[in-house]
Amino acid sequence: MYKRIVIKIGTSLLADKVSGINLERISGIARAVALLRAEGRDVCIVTSGAIGAGIAALKLKERPVTIPEKQATAAIGQPLLMEAYEHAFRKQGVLIGQLLLTKDDFAGRKRYLNARNTFDVLLKKGVVPVVNENDTVAVEEIKVGDNDNISAMVANLIEADILINLSNIKGLCKGDPAKDASAELVPVVRKITPEIERLVKNSKGELASGGMATKIQAAKKCVAAGIAMVIADGREPSIIGELIAGEPRGTLFIPCDSKLTQRQIWIAYIAQAAGRITVDPGALEALQKKGKSLLPSGVKAVTGKFEAGDVVIIADGADNEIAKGVTEYSSFDAEKIKGKKSADLTGTLGRRGSDEIIHRDNLVIL
Ligand code: GLU
Repeated sequence: MYKRIVIKIGTSLLADKVSGINLERISGIARAVALLRAEGRDVCIVTSGAIGAGIAALKLKERPVTIPEKQATAAIGQPLLMEAYEHAFRKQGVLIGQLLLTKDDFAGRKRYLNARNTFDVLLKKGVVPVVNENDTVAVEEIKVGDNDNISAMVANLIEADILINLSNIKGLCKGDPAKDASAELVPVVRKITPEIERLVKNSKGELASGGMATKIQAAKKCVAAGIAMVIADGREPSIIGELIAGEPRGTLFIPCDSKLTQRQIWIAYIAQAAGRITVDPGALEALQKKGKSLLPSGVKAVTGKFEAGDVVIIADGADNEIAKGVTEYSSFDAEKIKGKKSADLTGTLGRRGSDEIIHRDNLVIL
């Protein structure tokens, strides 16, 4: 049933302040993945732990704080991490390939499709792609920032059937399992309701950068696109095989019956918005109820700096995000034509432009 699988390995499973990278755990993962490959399944790994491994190699007492320090620590840790994966997978006769991605690789449709082509070739050749964020060059503004979200974006990118998110927690719990081992596990989530979101306490491992909140963001990206997601305890050696065999472990997020196309999923859940367009009530109704495009006349405000072709958020007057779409105009031009009738566009712009700011085909209601 699960033909294409993404496995996210959290820092807490790999890095160890004292002994560096947990090689035994990586060997266990390699064995489990080799078995899945032998069954004809495609597997992709998203791994954290570069900064953790760098911290251990540098014998730092604390996680670095400044951006250049974090980048340097990742530069030291990433090859150590890959060395450990390469060694473990080589023993299993499986080739791996490294992909270091940043937010920009998902933000533009062209780069997104480029990355997809690379994944396609690797998977076709039976290689296991091993992904991390490119921490060495990514400063805060261009970072996704956590591998929970990155793994969900990768799952979307390669159209996976399931994302397995492994860390040192047993799943989504009523209470904080890091503080209370008896916290009750939620085994299945059919819908990510406000109650589910309220369960999310941002308990973090000291070496890790994600938390439950980013895992829920990841689950939203997956289920909306028809991809299942599981949060489970990766310290259990047989967990990967058991999950794929369908055993109820951890928390399973049931996927929606997604009717969105790949491109719509990219617009709605993957591409990072470069700006925001606030619309008036008339435009709001036309978008939500009548399936219309967004015209300049309905635009009240333009926020942020964006170019034509960027993805932007469409918000109502109370700043609720109601849709996302690919804009036909830059923020500079959008500012000039906001509130204008179609007949006045050419005069305002000094050239003929598109009648719509965002065409219906490039727009997804959230
Ligand atoms: N990319 C970071 C690292 O390798 C980890 C990000 C995360 O843990 O979510 O250390």
